[in-house]
Amino acid sequence: MTVKLYDKDHFLREFDAQVVGVEDNAVELNQTAFFAESGGQAGDTGTLNGVRVADTQIDGGRILHFMESSPGFSPGNRVHGVIDWDRRYRIMKLHTASHIMEYYLWTQLGYVERTGSFVDDKKDRADYRYKERLDPEKLKRVEEDTNRFLSEGHPINIQVDDDGIRHWSCGPVEMHCAGTHVRNTREIGAIKLKRKNPGRGEERVETSLAE
Ligand SMILES: [Zn+2]
Repeated sequence: MTVKLYDKDHFLREFDAQVVGVEDNAVELNQTAFFAESGGQAGDTGTLNGVRVADTQIDGGRILHFMESSPGFSPGNRVHGVIDWDRRYRIMKLHTASHIMEYYLWTQLGYVERTGSFVDDKKDRADYRYKERLDPEKLKRVEEDTNRFLSEGHPINIQVDDDGIRHWSCGPVEMHCAGTHVRNTREIGAIKLKRKNPGRGEERVETSLAE
């Protein structure tokens, strides 16, 4: 089991760890601040002892750092990890913003089931079961409501219960989420929303940072 340092501190950018396994270009550490792709959030990139980490994935309880080149590490080695912070911070902003966007989407449409989502540093995309065409006026209102809420500076709270379930809340918005988030909505700035139609009786909402 890799200890997930990012669970305790979403803002941890650097850390020290011990190598516990190496398979080809995949490195397993005793602990890591690299977020492993899960729950629709992209895995982190960065470096271990200056060697590029191209992606981070979870494999059972193990977190694997996929290195761009052969790392030359052996079990027992100490390494210093550095996250690509600009990228991760953008992911945290977009991830947090998408939860707020969804709240206001449901305010406009009523509850619609989310069938999938993925967030990286470019955008968050969320697919909803919705057979009609998403009204651009309504989407505009969702964008305005979301941006007003973000600018009000609401704190984000995360509580972990006895079963290890992570409860995320911000103002009236609550959900289970194990991703990484900003501390306050003011950090995010403003967002832009775009509608896409992926077919299958679904509508896609893409959230990006307005900058
Ligand atoms: Zn989340």
